[in-house]
Amino acid sequence: MAKQGNIGVTSENIFPIIKKFLYSDHEIFLRELVSNAVDATQKLKTLASVGEFKGELGDLTVHVSFDSDTIKISDRGIGMTAEEIDKYINQIAFSGAEEFVEKYKNDAAAIIGHFGLGFYSSFMVSKKVEIVTKSYKEGAVPMKWSCDGTPEYTLEETEKEDRGTDIILYIDDENKDFLNKDKINSLLTKYCRYLPVPIAFGKKQEWKDGKYVDTDEDNIINDIQPAWVRKPTDMTDEDYKKFYQDLYPMSDEPLFWIHLNVDYPFHLTGILYFPRIKSNIDLHRNKIQLYSNQVFVTDSVEGIVPEFLTLLHGVLDSPDIPLNVSRSYLQSDQNVKKISNHIMKKVADRLEEMFKNDRPQFEEKWDSLKLFIQYGMLSEEKFYDRAAKFALLKDVDGKYYTFEEYKALTEANQTDKEGNLIYLYTTNANDQYSYIQAAKDKAYSVLIMDGQLDVHAISQMEQKFEKTRFVRVDSDTIDNLIRKDDVSKVTLNEDEKNALQEMFKSQLPKIEKTDFIVTFEALGESSNPVMLTQSEYMRRMREMSAMQPGMSFYGELPDSYNL
Ligand code: ADP
Ligand code: MG
Repeated sequence: MAKQGNIGVTSENIFPIIKKFLYSDHEIFLRELVSNAVDATQKLKTLASVGEFKGELGDLTVHVSFDSDTIKISDRGIGMTAEEIDKYINQIAFSGAEEFVEKYKNDAAAIIGHFGLGFYSSFMVSKKVEIVTKSYKEGAVPMKWSCDGTPEYTLEETEKEDRGTDIILYIDDENKDFLNKDKINSLLTKYCRYLPVPIAFGKKQEWKDGKYVDTDEDNIINDIQPAWVRKPTDMTDEDYKKFYQDLYPMSDEPLFWIHLNVDYPFHLTGILYFPRIKSNIDLHRNKIQLYSNQVFVTDSVEGIVPEFLTLLHGVLDSPDIPLNVSRSYLQSDQNVKKISNHIMKKVADRLEEMFKNDRPQFEEKWDSLKLFIQYGMLSEEKFYDRAAKFALLKDVDGKYYTFEEYKALTEANQTDKEGNLIYLYTTNANDQYSYIQAAKDKAYSVLIMDGQLDVHAISQMEQKFEKTRFVRVDSDTIDNLIRKDDVSKVTLNEDEKNALQEMFKSQLPKIEKTDFIVTFEALGESSNPVMLTQSEYMRRMREMSAMQPGMSFYGELPDSYNL
């Protein structure tokens, strides 16, 4: 006997709301239905393992197929009885949906639809949906549920040989583009490629008589045991690198990685890779993929992990990150905070461990790690506290020092009249060659600070280190350090000097004229008698303002001239 009913919902017709709110993301219907099929299969496996299901499990592959009007998702999982359809489809799922839409209807940016609204997301693309299902239970009667996008549905007995569920979507006119092999393939690859049960779409092809033809073998689109769910002890370096190439084909090898595996007080697995970042951090941002029980959720973890960690690559998988809420909500969620802190700690642990156990390797990787570590130190106080122990400074001879080591090295020789420690640095070792030589002649150390974030890192160090000032090697303040009587004077009279000054200044780009001072003093044997310098303060202000907002490269203008 067919049963007619009304889906347990109070509002007039909730489908238009679902369609509207989920519109921007309506491709997720496939993820929802395939993950339901996988859930149903996993449940059956669990029942079998505890002895509640005694039948043959058989082949548990989930099949996705399509024709000119429909998309079908079939599984051989637990299936549903009539009562279960009533409970899980007619009532529970939908009351959840109503509450959900009510709660977040003003939040357009919300990531919605992950849990609770799952099955009903099929109505975003369908004019009619059918469920044909047979429970694994002894003597279960196969049932067919059908609903055409209004709150009315029909439920009737039907024929079905095999245990499990078929979901049949009658795709509506606006969404016909989903009835396409490449389209479905790309969605399955995006959302389902690491699901834990085999998913078949079409047949494997082979090259025969000049063209590709279908074989009898199912085309399985997923890897049921992706690297992050495997035991770290079973993984070789090659496995990690291969997985990295899987995630980001054709990219440079990662520097190293962290395999995360936490059970308490939250669940988190994943692999984070440190990429080689030599310049332009913006290009490396936001590549981490977020999964929930191996279902792809998003490839933007902004707001979920601290900003600087978005420079890492890889996969995070946590069922404890609430996914059906907005990013602003995520930022205040306690679980998310704990997860963030945990990741930050693990990242610091890994770096510190490498620094302590294999300093040569750490130094070798420093140039590629530097931007990441600096960014972390600048943006997260907690990370600064950890990283100050292993962050390195590099001098013009390519030697590396920790902050403490560098202090010890320079303390004796590089103080000014007020007792400040003066750290000399260069932003361009070629252009500032003569100044560097002059400083080296005096046995002063010169640091290389030519990175994208160095100007900010310098400010931070000046705040953190007592009585320490950074002075660029060609800046006017170097006079404080280099004693005047060492400098050989050039004998020019005032008129000659003025004439020369005017000549040089007229050759400088307009914007820099005011910043520069033309002097006629040599710093030492190796330098030339005429120098253009500018004040440390003026130049640094200019660099910083050029870098605001967005931290892009600052201008390529030369900062000093050596004539
Ligand atoms: P959720 O998956 O978060 O529970 P859904 O709306 O996706 O929410 O599904 C609602 C319920 O419908 C599921 O919890 C499950 O009980 C049932 N269900 C959906 N799809 C299937 C399926 N393929 N096989 C068995 N049960 C299913
Ligand atoms: Mg679901």
